[in-house]
Amino acid sequence: MSGRVLILGGTAEARGLATALHEAGVEVVSSLAGRVARPRLPAGQVRIGGFGGPTALADWLREHHVAAVVDATHPFARRISASAAQATGEAAVPLLRLERPGWTQGAGDRWRWVNDLDEAERAVTEHGARRVFLTSGRQGLAAFADLGAWCLIRCVDPPDSPLPRRHELLLDRGPYTLRGERNLLRTHRIDLLVTKDSGGEHTAPKLAAAREAGVEVVVVRRPPRPQAPAVNDVADAAAWATAQVSG
Ligand code: NAP
Repeated sequence: MSGRVLILGGTAEARGLATALHEAGVEVVSSLAGRVARPRLPAGQVRIGGFGGPTALADWLREHHVAAVVDATHPFARRISASAAQATGEAAVPLLRLERPGWTQGAGDRWRWVNDLDEAERAVTEHGARRVFLTSGRQGLAAFADLGAWCLIRCVDPPDSPLPRRHELLLDRGPYTLRGERNLLRTHRIDLLVTKDSGGEHTAPKLAAAREAGVEVVVVRRPPRPQAPAVNDVADAAAWATAQVSG
């Protein structure tokens, strides 16, 4: 094998891919942004922190003899994906996007799709909700700072942005259970849920709990992404990456 694989991570899929490649004997480096105080560390080598933009990332790829890059970052991590697209172009390194599918609305779901967090805040106000469950993550909470409704805010680490005047903070990183999500909705008498379309199983039980309870959900659409070959599945990404370093 020649060269190593760089995984741009911060997701369960990225950790799954690191494990698969590491076990297959492929040299792999996972990169984390450093946003989370105590991240779940993937198998293999890990580096933490920004690269300093696309040109610095291109330099890093050359210096570290990277043969292939898998962008397995979160669907809402826009800047690093744009940076990866530009840097791999500059350094002539093949790029694959590993992205879990988004959620799809089913029978009984009462979802309202919005384009971004500002639109989500307007949707909450228009709804007239009194008790809101905010699960859109720590970043971007400032969009909800002026909400009059009481908010249950769940995130991994404490937020550093302004928060709604009336709120309770719940620090938790999941994965979550249907039973636990049911309890939260009931105990806090939630009448509206706000989420990003993150996709995947780990955070999906809140949607099933909302459906059961007849609670409406404001769902933030994924941002547009740079053009790149993409797969949904860790095994497909592992096969692609192995082929790149074996070829
Ligand atoms: P972002 O806005 O796309 O990235 C901002 C900057 O952070 C990038 O320009 C880059 O800095 C650095 N960065 C981001 N991801 C990196 C990585 N994996 N390795 C090295 N540097 C990285 O990203 P974000 O939305 O803040 O997300 C940060 C990380 O958290 C990502 O790894 C993502 O997978 C994970 N995450 C994000 C969300 C979400 O909702 N956004 C949810 C769960 C997990 P430089 O320009 O200096 O290279």
